[in-house]
Amino acid sequence: MSEGAHTAEQVTLARLPSGVELTTTVHTYRGDESGPTLYVQAAQHGREINGTEVLRRFHDRLPLESLSGTVIAVPVANPLTFDRVSYTTPEQLDSINPNMNRIWPGDSDGSLHQRMAARLWEFVTAADALVDLHTGSPDMLPHVVYREDDERSRSLADAFGTDLLLSEQADEDAPDEWHHRGFAGKLRVAAAEKGIPSITPELAHNKQILEDVVDEGVDGLLDVCRYLGLLPGDVPDRDPIVARNHLGQVTADDSGLFRPAPSLEVGKSISEGTAIGTVYHPATYEPLHHARADRDGVLYALTREATVTAGDQLASVALVREE
Ligand SMILES: [Zn+2]
Repeated sequence: MSEGAHTAEQVTLARLPSGVELTTTVHTYRGDESGPTLYVQAAQHGREINGTEVLRRFHDRLPLESLSGTVIAVPVANPLTFDRVSYTTPEQLDSINPNMNRIWPGDSDGSLHQRMAARLWEFVTAADALVDLHTGSPDMLPHVVYREDDERSRSLADAFGTDLLLSEQADEDAPDEWHHRGFAGKLRVAAAEKGIPSITPELAHNKQILEDVVDEGVDGLLDVCRYLGLLPGDVPDRDPIVARNHLGQVTADDSGLFRPAPSLEVGKSISEGTAIGTVYHPATYEPLHHARADRDGVLYALTREATVTAGDQLASVALVREE
């Protein structure tokens, strides 16, 4: 009878200034039958811990005896930001590249984040598909991002199965903002560039373990395994809404307290001009900005943290491409 094998290996990602070695755990699940390799990681933005909980439950639910091929899973890709419950590292550790998800495939002679990424990249290049688990800001609809016109990544996104998929334009197709913000250095983009189908699930909010969303993430990973032939069984046919981009954001024109429009809910279709909420002066009560949607689309993120500074993101609206 086939059994499969699980190993957990401590891998050194980089050395800190003090000489302390920064390590993380890499889980490998190997089936007795041959098959493809899936690489999945969580928490390269350390406050985005729903992915870590997804991998813990995936560990319990993965039927090793039915596995054909290999799954490599890294639950804490970035221990530095994990411990800080942050998105980026402090300047003292990496003043050049504070955001780990802008520097893939990394550089073993580069800055701290570049070295960490380069070590993990060795596992990535052995993979036939990649899932990089993230969570967004409150309040966000779970969705999967993939590279526009990359059909293999699109199929992987379909298999993961969220109701909303977001396609992101890349390289020469992408708007200036994509380039300014260094999105070419995202793990998903770098892997897709290497020919590895890649997706980024954004599993709702950060900092909190959200039961429904974690369940959705585990089911999504198991369906990705079925889609790849790592596990037996079929992936259900789905009919997601496909919309475009990460960049359609409504931002605050002024600083103050933001009160979202009470009737708004993420996941709703809204039209251009829909009231998103009001930024007001907390002391004088003067309304400073009546924020409105700048386009028709799906409202997929809405800020619930009320204290905002001019320029902060208030809401994200994605342009629908297919329904
Ligand atoms: Zn993230």
